[in-house]
Amino acid sequence: MAAQNANAKTQTKTDDAAKDNWGWWWRPGSNAKFYASCNVISVNYGFIGLGQMGQHMARHIYDKLDIENDKLYVYDVFPQAITAFVDNVTSIKPEHKHALTPLSSIKSFVHDVENPLDFIITMVPEGKHVKSVITELTKEYKSVNPSYSTTFIDSSTIDIKTSRECHEIVKNELPEFDFIDAPVSGGVAGARKATLSFMLSREDDASVSPELRELLSKMGKNIFPCGSQHGTGLAAKLSNNYLLAITNLATADSFQLAKSFGLNLQNYAKLVAVSTGKSWASVDNCPIPDVYPENNLPADVGYKGGFITRLTRKDVVLACESAKMANRFLYLGDVGRHWYDKACEHEDIANRDLGVLFEWLGDLEQDSVGNVIDTKRK
Ligand code: NAD
Repeated sequence: MAAQNANAKTQTKTDDAAKDNWGWWWRPGSNAKFYASCNVISVNYGFIGLGQMGQHMARHIYDKLDIENDKLYVYDVFPQAITAFVDNVTSIKPEHKHALTPLSSIKSFVHDVENPLDFIITMVPEGKHVKSVITELTKEYKSVNPSYSTTFIDSSTIDIKTSRECHEIVKNELPEFDFIDAPVSGGVAGARKATLSFMLSREDDASVSPELRELLSKMGKNIFPCGSQHGTGLAAKLSNNYLLAITNLATADSFQLAKSFGLNLQNYAKLVAVSTGKSWASVDNCPIPDVYPENNLPADVGYKGGFITRLTRKDVVLACESAKMANRFLYLGDVGRHWYDKACEHEDIANRDLGVLFEWLGDLEQDSVGNVIDTKRK
């Protein structure tokens, strides 16, 4: 049975055509009807950004659609991403095909859908992409003077300032609508397995609506309310990813140090896993090959896939810039950023999992006056 949606609440208040508890509800401005007696209400989802993360998140929504009632509309600026997504999910679950519609533009989410959308999720690279999508959606929704409400959920990792600007644009132009920052942790593996953790700008569990909870639970396992002010979800995400980025550098240092002492690195990795040096970077994403072959970690496949160094750098930069705006000096902010900047000068490092920083450190040497030389790259 589909969830009761946010629009359903609005309709209860505003829809004069609503009959009684045993009749049909007509969604204003549309042909949709809902049978109130049994609470079967359609939920219409939009998903924008079908990249490494988004393709899996959208797939879980698709897989879990109530196909009698729900609909999913998807879009990516890169048309091949849409085609690949549609081909993939419909070949695995053809029985849901009729509930999926690929769209060819952002404005289609407003004008070319059967019924107004309840949720639109964005999973795009940077703040500028989120802002352009949200600005366009807001403009198009405003042009139809909607009597319903739609919730925009942004799961991208972006700067807090841009996210707050998007929130204000939506709230100023469409007061009944909402824009929520809901970044995720768990990486591509978490997106694939629907085990993501969502960080939400919500005061507590009670302030996460059942409809939102149901949607996020299709894609993830944990929902963490981080505070009532818009942007607190991102604040938690950036603080966490800063910790990840810095512990990843310390892990690379530690393992190269152990190597220079002549230690067996597989044994050392097992020791770290039960010692005070353990962390996600040193254990769950251990950069030493053959320690956990059963987990098929990036280190076992030449650091391909995983959470690439370029995205880690992006998060370090966002965390450091946000820290500056909050007047928060960080011990390791500048030094951490320096090394991620340097790493990303090399495509072969930038585009591989962040564990590759262990391997790269092995290519670096310091000369007698303290200059660091990359022995393999210019
Ligand atoms: P990606 O580059 O693989 O995918 C982004 C997708 O968005 C691409 O398909 C791109 O074509 C599309 N896109 C860009 N601009 C668009 C626009 N204006 N309209 C529609 N589509 C647009 O990136 P990803 O790895 O999926 O990450 C997405 C976001 O999630 C980023 O902010 C990233 O930092 C964050 N994130 C990534 C991971 C990870 O492990 N990859 C983990 C957590 C969070």
